[in-house]
Amino acid sequence: MLARPQPLAGRTRRRFLGDFGKGSLAIAVMTPAVVAACSSDTVDSGSATTAPSSSTTTEPTSTTTTTAAEETTDAPAAVDAEAGALRWARADLGFVSAFVLARGNKAAIVDTGVPGSADAIGRSLADLGLTYNDVDHVVLTHHHGDHAGSIAEVMERSVNATVYAGESDLDDITFDTITGLVGGEDVFGLEALATPGHTAGHMAVIDHTVGLLVAGDAIFTDGGAAVEGPDQFFDDIPLNRESIRQMAALSYNTLLVGHGAPIEGGADAVVAELAASF
Ligand SMILES: [Zn+2]
Repeated sequence: MLARPQPLAGRTRRRFLGDFGKGSLAIAVMTPAVVAACSSDTVDSGSATTAPSSSTTTEPTSTTTTTAAEETTDAPAAVDAEAGALRWARADLGFVSAFVLARGNKAAIVDTGVPGSADAIGRSLADLGLTYNDVDHVVLTHHHGDHAGSIAEVMERSVNATVYAGESDLDDITFDTITGLVGGEDVFGLEALATPGHTAGHMAVIDHTVGLLVAGDAIFTDGGAAVEGPDQFFDDIPLNRESIRQMAALSYNTLLVGHGAPIEGGADAVVAELAASF
């Protein structure tokens, strides 16, 4: 069995069917602004998936993340060693990225991009030798439309998946069933990290076994450096800085962010440099 989100067992799913109309309106009004809001990069293409490997082979190991195992004493107990090391692929959607994380023949999607991104995310799944049928978890780092924009179409295809997002962002996401996160939960062997500031309910996820952090929009990257995103797109900059300090204190080699290229190798030191700058 793959890791299940055991700490969530006692939590109840929140349903938002009753809020659907309100949520739809909120998203409809919000989306154009936040699509721009989360973007610091020029939209250079409607490009297809660019995974660590561009191969379309079905051999999963072709895209294996080779980050060295980073043993930590607080690794989530639910990590199933037999499922193999975590692998990842990036769906580069132009100015924002979504990610597929895989263990063995199961996957989690982290963020869903702007509306219309499901095909590109599907290509990232294929790059890892997987399909939407293999997706058990979809984690939204936050409610902005360039991260949650394709949740409905992704979930139409991910028939086996559970959706997660930060508790404080749930009211701003239009989807009927989402499991709220507050931090500390285990999802797919990933530890959920409450990283508020960009939005109130912003979440990051970290895999302690391979040392991989998906930081959403709490951290941007630019030219191999970790940077803060543009001020105007953050609900609470001091709070986000606290979240960056929290992430700077953790151990990981690889950093994946919503805006900017992945940093592979020594990523925790790169984030620590950013945290030391303020
Ligand atoms: Zn954002």
